[in-house]
Amino acid sequence: MDSLVKPAPRDRRHAETPLVCPICGSALRNVYIRDLGGVTADITWQIHAGECAEHGWFQAETVSRPPREIFAVDRPFGVGRRIEIDGQELYSFPTVWMFESTRGARIRVDALDPQYWRPQRFLRRG
Ligand SMILES: [Zn+2]
Repeated sequence: MDSLVKPAPRDRRHAETPLVCPICGSALRNVYIRDLGGVTADITWQIHAGECAEHGWFQAETVSRPPREIFAVDRPFGVGRRIEIDGQELYSFPTVWMFESTRGARIRVDALDPQYWRPQRFLRRG
C-alpha cells in the first residue's frame, strides 16, 4: 500500500463498511472510508479501513468490484504489516470475490455487497 497516504479531512469516519476482521470475522471499529472518486460517476473507487479490537487495522480497496484482498496495515491507509496465523506469515487475505473472479465469473455485482467482501478462509469453515 502507499505509505504516503494518510487520513485526510475528506475521509469519512464512523462509516459503514462491509469489511470485517479477516481473522475473527468481527465488525471493525474506527472505520474510515476514503473516496478516491471516479473518472465517471458510475465508478465506485474507495479504500475502506477499520480496526479490530484484537487484531489491529485492516483495509481493502474497491474499484467498481468488491476487493480481491484484505490487507493488514499498521494504521488507516498505512503500510502493510505481517500477521502470523497457525505459524504462517500473512500480509493479505483473499476474499470471496477473489475466489469468484478467478473462477471466471462475469456476473455483475454490487461493489459493496458484503457476501463478496467476506474473507475466503471463512468459507472453509463452512
Ligand atoms: Zn479480529
